[in-house]
Amino acid sequence: MTETLTAPTVEYGADALIVCDNLVRIYQVENIEVQALQGLDLLVEAGEMVAIVGQSGSGKSTLLNVLSGLDVPTAGAARVAGWDLLRMSHADRLTYRRTVVGFVWQQTGRNLLPYLNARENVMLPMAFAGIGSTTRRKRANELLDAMNMGHMANRRPGQLSGGEQQRVAIAVALANRPQVLFADEPTGELDSATGDDVFEALRAANRDLGAAVVVVTHDSTVSGQVQRTVAIRDGRTSSEVVRRTRITAEGVTEVIAEEYAVLDRAGRMQLPKEYRKTLGLKDRVRLELEPDHIGVWADGTPHRPKPHPTAIPQPNPVEAANPPPIVRPPAPPTTDGSPAFPAPSDAPHLHFQAAPERPSPEQQASAGHPLAGMAHEAEAPEGANPYTPRVPPPTASRPKGTPDEGGEQ
Ligand code: ADP
Ligand code: MG
Repeated sequence: MTETLTAPTVEYGADALIVCDNLVRIYQVENIEVQALQGLDLLVEAGEMVAIVGQSGSGKSTLLNVLSGLDVPTAGAARVAGWDLLRMSHADRLTYRRTVVGFVWQQTGRNLLPYLNARENVMLPMAFAGIGSTTRRKRANELLDAMNMGHMANRRPGQLSGGEQQRVAIAVALANRPQVLFADEPTGELDSATGDDVFEALRAANRDLGAAVVVVTHDSTVSGQVQRTVAIRDGRTSSEVVRRTRITAEGVTEVIAEEYAVLDRAGRMQLPKEYRKTLGLKDRVRLELEPDHIGVWADGTPHRPKPHPTAIPQPNPVEAANPPPIVRPPAPPTTDGSPAFPAPSDAPHLHFQAAPERPSPEQQASAGHPLAGMAHEAEAPEGANPYTPRVPPPTASRPKGTPDEGGEQ
């Protein structure tokens, strides 16, 4: 028998809802190239809620524009629910934007049509998708109720506050049961109390309707409320904070936040600036593989070879008389106030350990919200996931001549 040495190739993010693989977006402004995305990797699971944070200009909006089908990346791969965002026809792009994803923008005025009332705004995307008027009206009312806007269904955007407009905008974005809701700084123009209401509406969309939510936010209190916060720096994902809940022995639920550096597919990672500063790491570092972690030392740190397990340590007579002081750096900051890991070696260094598995969206799900029942209403066959796209991705076999109704939402 011939033995094969090649491992089976598993596609990167094969099971994920959103896959960005080495995504690049270069803008050409006159003769200058702006690299807005510089090889960004990101996976989002179905039903997950993820916050994206990062300084202004780091590429957050570019990423959301690509994922929502408004912009086409320069290179790399981007797939959402099986749709290949680099190879979509114009007609597919329209279908994708209408039925697979929903979006909410920061500028309240960009989300709603000013001459339609709240209910008509929510009904409009359903009309584009060819849904009958009775169903449209019923679902619009349910969505507005769920966003706590049912009592203002007859008001036009101009008669609503900023926060109320954003809640209607979320209902509009959810009208065609998207699998993902993208929101680019949806609370950016609102005061914090109003912003909280809008954020709660996004959480309801995730928790009760099962839509994955990817929300760009500046607000650290907001990003502190989601399972996973992904930080983008210079057009790449640089770190993630994962939050999980734990019940203590006393029966108290506590949230544990752990920060991880993102390792890209080539094995690259970014060391946080404060760590580099604390240990004076620059240009190159020395790595050492330990059984369960990797140690990182600044270049020039004296290397102490580990004694062979069977060797009997021989005290150095000079050192024994004058032991060198042990220098430890201040502990790097931790996100949850827990004590930093003690350094295992005498020399100041960092050590890295692999992250445990991410919590599944189901573990985070909870029931009891007004929207909870809506996911299984009449249109969906019994037991079917209402978030399964009505239109399969073009990569799957799709009947020819899918109608293209024209006109953007
Ligand atoms: P963020 O949303 O994180 O503030 P953006 O994605 O808007 O960042 O921008 C990332 C970078 O790309 C910035 O340097 C920005 O100036 C540039 N950029 C964004 N959109 C365009 C565009 N349409 N043309 C040229 N440069 C752009
Ligand atoms: Mg932006």
